Parts: sequence; C-alpha cells; structure tokens
Amino acid sequence: MDLRGWLRFALGAGLAGAAGCSAPAGPPDVVLVVVDTLRADHLGSYGFALPTSPHVDRFAAESVLFERALAASANTVPSHASLMTSRFVREHSVGWINGTTRLEDAVTLAMRFREAGFETGAFVSNFVLRRAVGLDAGFDVYDDELDAAEPNRPDFTERNAEATTARARAWLARQSERPVFLFVHYQDPHGPYTPPPGWREPFAALEAESSPALPVLARDDAAGGIPRYQALPGLAHLAQYRSRYAGEIAYFDASFGRLLEALDARGRPNVVLLTADHGESFGENGFYLSHGHATTPDQAHVPFVLRAPGLAPERRSEPVHHVDVAPTLLELAGLAPPEDARGVALGPLLRGGRPLPERLLFCDVGTDVSAYAGDRFLRASRSEPRRAFQFSQQRWEGGRRWEPIPSEPADLERLDAYLAHAERMRPIPAALSKSDRARLRALGYLDDE
Ligand SMILES: [Zn+2]
Repeated sequence: MDLRGWLRFALGAGLAGAAGCSAPAGPPDVVLVVVDTLRADHLGSYGFALPTSPHVDRFAAESVLFERALAASANTVPSHASLMTSRFVREHSVGWINGTTRLEDAVTLAMRFREAGFETGAFVSNFVLRRAVGLDAGFDVYDDELDAAEPNRPDFTERNAEATTARARAWLARQSERPVFLFVHYQDPHGPYTPPPGWREPFAALEAESSPALPVLARDDAAGGIPRYQALPGLAHLAQYRSRYAGEIAYFDASFGRLLEALDARGRPNVVLLTADHGESFGENGFYLSHGHATTPDQAHVPFVLRAPGLAPERRSEPVHHVDVAPTLLELAGLAPPEDARGVALGPLLRGGRPLPERLLFCDVGTDVSAYAGDRFLRASRSEPRRAFQFSQQRWEGGRRWEPIPSEPADLERLDAYLAHAERMRPIPAALSKSDRARLRALGYLDDE
C-alpha cells in the first residue's frame, strides 16, 4: 500500500491519530497471542467467577470479544498452522498430526507481514512448536529455546510465561520505527498444572467443590481418569487439578499484562488478538484433563478477543474461527487479506455494524471432526482412521443430548465434502532425532513401535 492508500485506509479505520491530528501514525504493530490449552470459560471476561484474568479482562473491556470462537483442531500444531494460513486442517500439510508433520507450500501470515515491511518475531513455549514443524516461515526471529521441562516427561521441554515474555519484550525494545508483527505463544495452562508458588492459593475455593476421585491412567490419550503426564503426587480429585489450572491462567495473565505494557510503550497504534490453540476436557464425554481426542466444545471452544483502532468494544455471539485470524490481522494493518483465505476479515464487518456470514467452521483431530454453525454442531467420528464416520449433532451450549441428523442436509453434504479432502500431510524430512521420537512417542503421537 502506498502512502495515499494508507492514508485512505487509516482515515476509514480511525487510525489517523487521536486528537484530530491529520497525519496517520503509520501502520499499526500487530500482535497475536496464543495461549495453549486455555478454556474460554475460565477467564473472567467469559464468565469465570474467580479472578484468573484481571489483565485479560481489562484488555477485553477495550476489545471486541467473540463469545463463540472455535479452534481448527484440539491439537497444538494443526491449530497453529490454521492460524498462520487461514486454511482448515485438511487443507494444509500439517494436517491433523501433531509434531511429526511440517507446514510447507503455504504463504503464511508472517510471510505477508515481512513482505509488507514489518519486523517479524515469534516466541513459543512448547516443544511441538519447534522450528522443524515449519511455523517459522516468514519470521525474522523464531525463538524456540525452551529452558524447562515437564515434571512427568523431562524430555518434553517448555518455557514459562515470565521467560517467554522477557524474550518478547527484549525483542520489542530492540525494534526501530518499522511496525512489528509479533507472535507470542504461552504454554502455562497446558498440563501438568504446576503454577509457581503463590499462584494457586487464590483459587483454593475450587477445591471445596465435590468432584470424583480419578485413577491415574497408564497412557496419555484415554478417557476415564488422569492422563499419565498430568498426574501430580497425592492428587486424585478433579477439583484439585482445576484450582491449579486456574492458578496457571492467573500466572500467564500477569505476563500478558507485562507484554501489553511493553507494546503500548512503543507509542504506535497496535492491533492485538488473544486466542488459544484449543481447550481442555474437565470430564466432558468421559475425558479428564486432556485434549486432542475430540472436537466437542470443551476442546474446540477458545477465547477470541480483538483490540484494534477503529473497533468499538462489544461482545459478539456469531461463531468465529482460527481461519479468520490471518485475514483479520492483515486487513487491520491495511494489507490485503489473502484471496484464498478460508476465513473472513472481521474488521469491515465490525466497523460496518454488519452480521458475520453464516458458514460451517471445522474443528478436526482426524478421527473426530465437527462442523459448527450458529449454536449447534454436526459431528463426524470414527474409531479408526479407515472406518466410516458416524454422524450426530448437538447444541454446543447447554447441549446434553445427541440428536438425530440431518436436520440441514446441505450442511451434512458440506461436512462430507470437507471429510473427502485428500490428506496431504508432509512428514518432517530427514526424520526426527532419537530424542524427538522418544518425546513424541511418549505423547502418543507416534505409533511406529
Ligand atoms: Zn496446544
């Protein structure tokens, strides 16, 4: 966009300076924050009763908050690939596999920002987002140096919110006048839930709730008990785990506040989008303290909070999805949304006070796929990759009973067409290192033995 184009855009979007100043401040900084495993319903701004999220809530009060936002997958890497490409899971080369496939042949959000002259930086906190999975494409800096390890899986490295935020803030402090595209991934609410000392105590009241005592399972991907990687010594009750999960969110939240401080200190306009890669089951459909196995709302529903110049704070109930992130952020920065985007740029609809289009939005973990629309979703699941899918439908808020389908034959046809996509997953070349294989096998992502 040339200067005249930018000026026209900026005036339309309300970016042209606060106090009637006629010169635009230039393209905004753009920041995408993704929190691993964060259930929307555990944030104050989404109705949680205890104070897990004062900084997110203050941010949300200045933002457009989407009450019904959906993840592309219930696994980390597939969701991130959809965030960066605006493609559904079966349409990118990561596919529904987590950690052994790689994003290739796609123009990513970071590539588009870099091409437009933005400085691009990424700071991730989970081993599965390491550079080898290809999400580094387009980033000048892709910081995946993880300095800590999970308690039950010492090979599985991660980084806490303070360490990741310190790196992101230091990078921001080194930037000059050019606008930035910054992607920060936080790992803290991902299990095992071990908030640093002092962060669990404000949520001790949750432990008074009666909850079942659960067995510790022998594996990480089964129902009916505590996955092995989640087990904490002496703790058997869901309520004990939930209080620690709440503490992890509060710990992340403080760092989110520090990140916003550093961003606002740059004195430029900025666009900030906060979401999660997926949710977490707390007993829904028999799954406890886990994700990656189902596309029901406990795992598919994520927060989605967008603050941008020219967007009035409001709450919206139409469904939005990870595929909307790339076109939305590009458009809010004055750049053209990708023509092949599967999502929509939300800015023009919000600025114009218009409703979002009705559409089917897919959450996909391979053997379980749901198509969300309005307040219901069609679900296709099968016990094994080569078996036929079984279809069912449910309301996604307050839904208790699975209902017969199809009530909307056209939707069923569209879900079928999505399922028929040829899977085009690309393995990470030259194989994984021995330790990578051991880690991924421990997670249940490799079945080669
Ligand atoms: Zn994740």
